[in-house]
Amino acid sequence: TSLFQSAPSAPLDPIMRLFEAFHQETRPDKINLVVGVYTDAQGRVPVLRAVQEAERAWIDQARPKQYRPIEGTAGFRSGVQRLLFGENTAVLQAKRAATLQSVGGTGALKIGADVLKQLLPDAIVAVSDPSWENHRALFEAAGFTVRSYPYYDATRQDVRADAMLDALRGLPRGSIVVLHACCHNPTGNDLDPAQWRAVVDACVQGGLVPFVDMAYQGFGDGLEEDALAARLFAEAGVDFLVASSFSKSFSLYGERIGALTLVSSDPGTIGRAEALAKRLVRTNYSNPPTHGAAIVEAVLQTPALYDAWTEELAGMRHRIHDMRTRLVQALDAQDLGRGFSAITRQKGMFSYSGLTPTQAEALRARHGIYALDTGRICVAALNPGNLPRVVDAIADVVR
Ligand code: PLP
Repeated sequence: TSLFQSAPSAPLDPIMRLFEAFHQETRPDKINLVVGVYTDAQGRVPVLRAVQEAERAWIDQARPKQYRPIEGTAGFRSGVQRLLFGENTAVLQAKRAATLQSVGGTGALKIGADVLKQLLPDAIVAVSDPSWENHRALFEAAGFTVRSYPYYDATRQDVRADAMLDALRGLPRGSIVVLHACCHNPTGNDLDPAQWRAVVDACVQGGLVPFVDMAYQGFGDGLEEDALAARLFAEAGVDFLVASSFSKSFSLYGERIGALTLVSSDPGTIGRAEALAKRLVRTNYSNPPTHGAAIVEAVLQTPALYDAWTEELAGMRHRIHDMRTRLVQALDAQDLGRGFSAITRQKGMFSYSGLTPTQAEALRARHGIYALDTGRICVAALNPGNLPRVVDAIADVVR
């Protein structure tokens, strides 16, 4: 018998399972509201102008694709730090932050988890209930015990900030708390600034280690606004980590480009933190890929490209918001016996629509429209062309 006979079989996570089912779906008018991919008004994954120009410049210069430094290039790293913390802010001046290029936001979470496992081998990791499916799996795979903290109230369709704070206060010192910086996945419900301040306070008081997952910077309220959590932790002077993803904000999903930023309370230790992360990268995949990072670096470091990018990013953000408004208006006009206005208060790509598992199943079976059983839909996949069909289908399964 083969060695691999005993490989444990486990199902793919629900997102990947439905993603595969969608690709096997034969109805030509199928609609994918499962995966977190932004499409434009014509239903296409956009190639951003700034990205195209940066790629063209790279090719025109015929630049070779040498091995990169383990941590990525200086221009990439400083660009990411500016995006996170702002120009020349105290945390950067004090040299308390170290940034490493990563393989998407997921790679940043994984290297960060491995760093933490070396430093806090017995720590509990707390993730929001609910959270992105991969959070629990990733931290468990890194060897941690993962718990959840209350986050979402399905009845009020809002954040349970008080319950969350109570749970954080109950965690042992040295626990790791995974926080969604903005555009909470899957609910779309974010903490407001006052609630963030209370969460930062609870982490500081409780000696917790925050790990801020920032997969959607620029998709919530804006690049600066969406960085609030990272900036508050930086001001608080604590040790924390940030996982940045540029998959969505640059529409560079398949380039697998992100960054891990380690922030130390003591500038004297940041070099040790970076060296540990570099050793972990070295034994995982040696060094990171070139193309996506070269594009992101060029955009972040070239003022004209940066301006073009922020404009396009704002365009994506506004389009999603517009689709939320239109979705809610159209659903409310159907008199379904329940309101959908919570969807307009949510931010980012996703919405907890309130659809039940049975309704989500019916949406797939009867209409070829794929949404998660939790009722999560990707509003960034809606457009004026598919919206009427989505609305009619939702109305059909809710009635
Ligand atoms: N974290 C959250 C909350 C996400 O939603 C995602 C993407 O879906 C990621 C991390 C991973 O991003 P990437 O595709 O860059 O690995």
